[in-house]
Amino acid sequence: MKTKDPKTFFIRTYGCQMNELESEVMVGQLKRRGLKRVLDEAAADLLLYNTCSIRDLAERKVMGKLGQLGRSKMRNKLIGVTGCMAMAKKETLFKKLPHVDFVIGTNNLSELNNVLDDVIESGQQQIRTEGEYDALDYTIAEREHKLKGYVSIIRGCDKYCTYCVVPYTRGQEVSRPHEEIEREVRDMVQKGYKEVTLLGQNVNSYGKDQPQSGVLFHDLLYKLDKIEGLERVRFLTSHPIDISVELMEAVRDLRTVCEFVHFPLQAGSNRILKKMHRIYTKEQYLEKVALLRSIVPNAKLGTDIIVGFCSETDAEFEETYQLFDEIGFSVAFIFAYSPRKGTPAMRWADDVPEEVKQERLHRLLDLYEKKAAQERMGLIGSQMEVLVEGVNKNGQLKGTTRCWKNVVLDGNESLIGSLQMVDIQGFNHSTLTGIIQRPLILT
Ligand code: SF4
Repeated sequence: MKTKDPKTFFIRTYGCQMNELESEVMVGQLKRRGLKRVLDEAAADLLLYNTCSIRDLAERKVMGKLGQLGRSKMRNKLIGVTGCMAMAKKETLFKKLPHVDFVIGTNNLSELNNVLDDVIESGQQQIRTEGEYDALDYTIAEREHKLKGYVSIIRGCDKYCTYCVVPYTRGQEVSRPHEEIEREVRDMVQKGYKEVTLLGQNVNSYGKDQPQSGVLFHDLLYKLDKIEGLERVRFLTSHPIDISVELMEAVRDLRTVCEFVHFPLQAGSNRILKKMHRIYTKEQYLEKVALLRSIVPNAKLGTDIIVGFCSETDAEFEETYQLFDEIGFSVAFIFAYSPRKGTPAMRWADDVPEEVKQERLHRLLDLYEKKAAQERMGLIGSQMEVLVEGVNKNGQLKGTTRCWKNVVLDGNESLIGSLQMVDIQGFNHSTLTGIIQRPLILT
């Protein structure tokens, strides 16, 4: 018999930053209802899993976890599944997991408390995965971090890359009104936030679906840059085709905008790029990278790569490898292809053997690690701006640079929340170590 009066909840988030933000909003919704968040599943009356379906592994992890709950006493708790996997699998989840009480897709997260009421009152399973996107009230988000936070600016994606499930789980692009975003950021700054990361599946499309507003992504950056007290603006993620000269100039010119651009390459072979429907060639991609580097010489790049996409040959993988080596990315997310149900690529044979995918994956990861080590060596002796964010388990201050590098340094806790210029002196694994610059005293 499931509880009719939940007092505590546990939430676990899988997947991307957008999911993290949406979980923070759901935490806000449940706390407003009077529920207390607990960090131990066993102590919770309500278990909530905010899921991802971008890769097969992500789905298998959640399905494994939920299956395990069904075989334990935890099946008697109220159990909800939200997010992209809920959207993709819909009622089939109930067939496989009869102990799940409700399923809420990405369009319906604002209905969480109503769905919970319906489950409790009716004692029946509930599902909400249909309908138009119902805008979430982000102002109630209970953000994990107190100095930096995510801000959603656009949802959905119109690009329809053939391997990607996002256009089907998150729908078409819908931009949030810029006034609402500015209000939210101002409110965050008043609460002490120093840094925001603007989120969207393709932030560079921002505003194109709302031509009447006349505010495109770079215009939004100019507006946010005027907010006093806001120190840093980051953004994730971009489609290379939409990275405009105006955006590059904004990265160069605006005080707050960090010099980091996520530039997902995905593959280095033109045939594979075409098959992926990435709508650029490797030559066009290289031209854009060169343009960015000419406009913002200190820009760092991030990327996403998929190895072993349908029919990718050894020679085509070599093209990806060479391009990755040539460009030099500061941050990279590299994955082996896994077919996603409902995507156009499901029509093609997933014909690169798993061991070949893994071999390509590890070769590229090794190259990435080698390049990352070279980058770290090159940073020794440089000065970098660090936002001091907290204290690590060794009692040292920790923070991040404008280009997403983690840094530890010695100093007083009173510096938390401040920006410091730091001399980089070394590194420990992938974390840089440094000391705060002292003013030069002339004798
Ligand atoms: S641009 Fe990104 S989110 Fe959109 S379909 Fe392609 S991979 Fe998916």
